[in-house]
Amino acid sequence: MAKVYEIAILGRATWNLHSLNNEGTVGNVTEPRNVRIIDPNTNEAITTDGISGEMLKHMHAEKLWELSDKSALCNGCKRLEPERGFKDKEIRGSKDFATAATKAIQKCVICDSHGFLFPEGKITGSRSSTVEFGWALGLPINGEFTRDIHTHARHAVGEKGKTEGEITTQMVYHRPTRSGEYAIVSVFQPWRIGLNNVTMNYIKDVDRDERYKLALTAYQAMFMRADGAMTSTRLPHATNFSGVIVLSKNNVPAPVISPLKADYADEIKQIANTFKDDLESIEFKSIAEFIGKINNLIERSPFSITLE
Ligand SMILES: [Zn+2]
Repeated sequence: MAKVYEIAILGRATWNLHSLNNEGTVGNVTEPRNVRIIDPNTNEAITTDGISGEMLKHMHAEKLWELSDKSALCNGCKRLEPERGFKDKEIRGSKDFATAATKAIQKCVICDSHGFLFPEGKITGSRSSTVEFGWALGLPINGEFTRDIHTHARHAVGEKGKTEGEITTQMVYHRPTRSGEYAIVSVFQPWRIGLNNVTMNYIKDVDRDERYKLALTAYQAMFMRADGAMTSTRLPHATNFSGVIVLSKNNVPAPVISPLKADYADEIKQIANTFKDDLESIEFKSIAEFIGKINNLIERSPFSITLE
C-alpha cells in the first residue's frame, strides 16, 4: 500500500445553533466572528460568519490530548499549556534549538504534530505544525448568513415567580447563536512527523505510524463532536459533513480548493486525474462516511523523505 505524503480535508460542515467562536465580550454582549470574503459564486464582497483556524486547530489539539497516553507527552502538553515544550525543564535546558527540538519531538506527540515556538534564550526557534487549518467560513445563502443574538436574563435567587416588572436584581446578557453550513480547509503533512526541521533527520525511537494514526483519529473525533467555545449551553447540532479527502502518495502537495466554490469537488477530481500517479480524491457525503474513509487511511504509513 502506498505511503501517505499529505492529506487535505476539504468539506462543508453543517452546525446548527452553535457559538463555537466569538470576537469577545464587550459589557454584556458577546460578538460573533464577522469576516469579509469574496463570494466565489457571485464575485461580490460579502460579510459572513467565521470560526478561526486557531479555534479549529485548538479543537484538534484537544482531541489529540484526549486520545494520547499522557505519559507520552512533555510536561507542558500534559497540562495543555500553549507554550508546549518550552514549559518542560528538560527540553528548556538544552544547549541549542536543534537539541531542544529533538527532545521535544522525541518526547511528545503534541509538540511533534502541532509545532511550537520557543520564544527566548539559547533555544529560541520554532517548529511549524504538521496540521493546518484555515478559517471555517459560513456559506452564504442569497448573500447572507443565518445568525441570531439571543437575550438572556439571569435572575437573582428569590426573584423566581415574580413578573418581569417586579424583578429588581437581574443581569441581562446577549449571546450570539448561529446556524449554517461552513466551508472547511485543512492539510495534514505526515511526511514531517518525527522530522527535526533543523537537521532534516528523522528522530530515532519515534513511532511515526502511531503518531500518524493519532492525528487522523483526532480529525475523526473533532468532526464526530465539535467542542469549541460555549459548548456547555451551545453544543452544536451537527447534522452533516460532506466533501473530499485528497490523498497525496508522493512528494506532491495535496491541492486545496475552497468548498465555498460550488464545483470545488469536481475541480479537485480534475487535478487528481492530472496527477493520477500521485493524488487520489476520496468523496464523503456524511459524518459517518468521513469517519469511515479516514479509517481506511489509518491503515497506511507516513511517507519519509530521503536526503541521500
Ligand atoms: Zn509537548
